[in-house]
Formats: sequence, C-alpha cells, structure tokens
Amino acid sequence: MKIMIMTDMEGCAGILNFKDWVTPEGRYYEKGKRFLTAETNAAIDGFFAGGATEVVILDGHGHGGIDPELLDERALLRRGHSEKVWPWGMDKSFSALACVGQHAKAGTPYSHLTHTQNCGVIDYRVNGLSIGEYGQLALCAMELGIPCILACGEKAFTKEAEELTPGVLTVAVKEGLLPDDGFRDCTTEAYENAKLSAIHLSPGKVVKMIRETAFKAIEKLKKSPNAFHFPKLSPPYRREVEFRASSERKTQPYSKSVEHPDSIIELMNIPW
Ligand SMILES: [Zn+2]
Repeated sequence: MKIMIMTDMEGCAGILNFKDWVTPEGRYYEKGKRFLTAETNAAIDGFFAGGATEVVILDGHGHGGIDPELLDERALLRRGHSEKVWPWGMDKSFSALACVGQHAKAGTPYSHLTHTQNCGVIDYRVNGLSIGEYGQLALCAMELGIPCILACGEKAFTKEAEELTPGVLTVAVKEGLLPDDGFRDCTTEAYENAKLSAIHLSPGKVVKMIRETAFKAIEKLKKSPNAFHFPKLSPPYRREVEFRASSERKTQPYSKSVEHPDSIIELMNIPW
C-alpha cells in the first residue's frame, strides 16, 4: 500500500502567522518546519503501523515546509514537479491520498491564515464547486480512482475536507476565531492580515492525535475501501478563478476561466 501525503504549513498547530512562521525571512520559519515535519512523521508512523509499504511526502508549501533532516527515514520526499505539474506525481500505483498541515480555502469563516494558493484569490471553482488547495489535488485523485483517507489541519479545513470527500478521517489542530464577512472586496494585502487569530492545540498533543488517526484511516481503507467518496462532477470541466484587487500591484479585481473537455488533471495543467 503506497500512500501520498501532501503537506502545507499554514494549517499546522503552533504556526501563528504568515510573517514569522512560513517564509524564509520569518524568525520562526525553521521552528515552523520542525512542527510540520513532526506532524508529518506522526502520519507516516501511523500509516506504516497500519500496513503501508511506501509513503511519499509531497511538500506543497511554496517555500518548502519539510525539514528533510528530521523526516522519518522510511518516507520519500518529493519536491517539484515532472514535465506536467499536475497531478504532482500521483498515479494509479497509489492506494490513498492524505494531507497534513492544510488550511481552509479562501473565504472560509472561522479559518486561520485563510487562502487558496495566495491571498489574492477570492474563489476557485471547478464546474461551480468552490474548492481550495486540498480540493485541487483531491479532484485529481478522484480522476485516478485514489481515495482521500486522512485530512489534518485547522478545524474549518477539516469541515471542508469532510464535505468534499465524505468518509475522510480528520484531525483538527487549531480553530480560527474570525468570520470572513466583508472581505470579498478587500485587497490582497488586507486579506493577508485579516485572518490571523486562532486557538491552537499543543504540537505535542497533535502528533499523538495524527498518528492514531492515520492508523485508523489505513485500517478503514483495508476494511471498507468503498467508504471514501467524492463529489459528482461530469465533463466538460470548467475552472473559474476570481482574483482580488492588489494595492501593491495596482490591479483591479478580475476573473479567469478555462475549460477542458474531459480531464480535471489536464484542466489543472492549463496555466492560470
Ligand atoms: Zn497552502
């Protein structure tokens, strides 16, 4: 059983803001990477305990979020893409997709460090279905017939994952404290600072929860492989992305849409 774990930083317990924690200039960036790598190692350990034979980590954070030196030595680390970007190395040899450290999609109330790709996106939809970064890879997994079995991250994200891919097991590691009212028309720069409040579980507690839930998820996959579900979407596939105004780049809000006749993966490969 081969498992892919997509990782991101903003949805980890203890990652308090963008500025200090998730960029190379941030004073706690290295500590943030340690937090994410510990959460990831917990998932790896749970999966191997449950019978995984190979675990590939897809470091999905723009600047990189995994510290390779601290990564469980049984796992493989993938960084970067092949000739085609999507589906980031997933193929039918994988038995399941999981994610660790994920944040909710743009516009989600009571989420933390909320964004889709970056703070300049208002909404990202495929055939009218609003999705975030998890949804983009999950829909590729859907096309390949790979179930999504574990989703770890902030609480609002875990709800997003449960709604998009029913049956997925989740671990909520922190909870955002602010609604998302009135931000639709704000600038990218204002949105970056709009969702910085949350209550976090301790990173030490969270790793125990993730290990246990990863083990349960792989047990569930073995016992009830048909208990993991996807939304119903049918071709042609249309992507619509709405962008915020930017005071830095002096741009107004705009939107872009593109269509592919029969593949979500190929739709994702069309540049924005
Ligand atoms: Zn992200």
